[in-house]
Amino acid sequence: MEVKQCDFCRMPYQSMGKRICMDCMLKLDEDFIEIREYLYEHDRAGIEEVSEATGVSRKSILYLLKEERLIVGDEHGRGCGILKCESCKKSISTGRMCESCKQEVFAAIQESVGAVRKPKRITQEMLEEESLRGVAKLQLK
Ligand SMILES: [Zn+2]
Ligand SMILES: [Zn+2]
Repeated sequence: MEVKQCDFCRMPYQSMGKRICMDCMLKLDEDFIEIREYLYEHDRAGIEEVSEATGVSRKSILYLLKEERLIVGDEHGRGCGILKCESCKKSISTGRMCESCKQEVFAAIQESVGAVRKPKRITQEMLEEESLRGVAKLQLK
């Protein structure tokens, strides 16, 4: 096993191939269930509203978005600048990268030519700062 830094709480942990530690994984699962329940009743609720109603932190909500477990967007299904592609910074509605960057990375892996261009990491601070303005609505994926 490899010691890694948890992508969520930043503590070192014994990784078994996941980005986050067991504690955070369990916490995020709980948070996700709370949010899912709420969204069943209140489809397309705003992030602020969901956070307040469920007690789930914005940080968790953002992480669930990055994990593609939630989608955020305006009424046309476009991203609202809350999530950005980690490679080209285009606004996206779920996950870590936009479709074209995903395809680029996939193609690079397919060709297995040298190293895949590493996406620039967006820090939690940057995300938090950008986040939660505007009219973004959450949806279940
Ligand atoms: Zn953790
Ligand atoms: Zn991109």
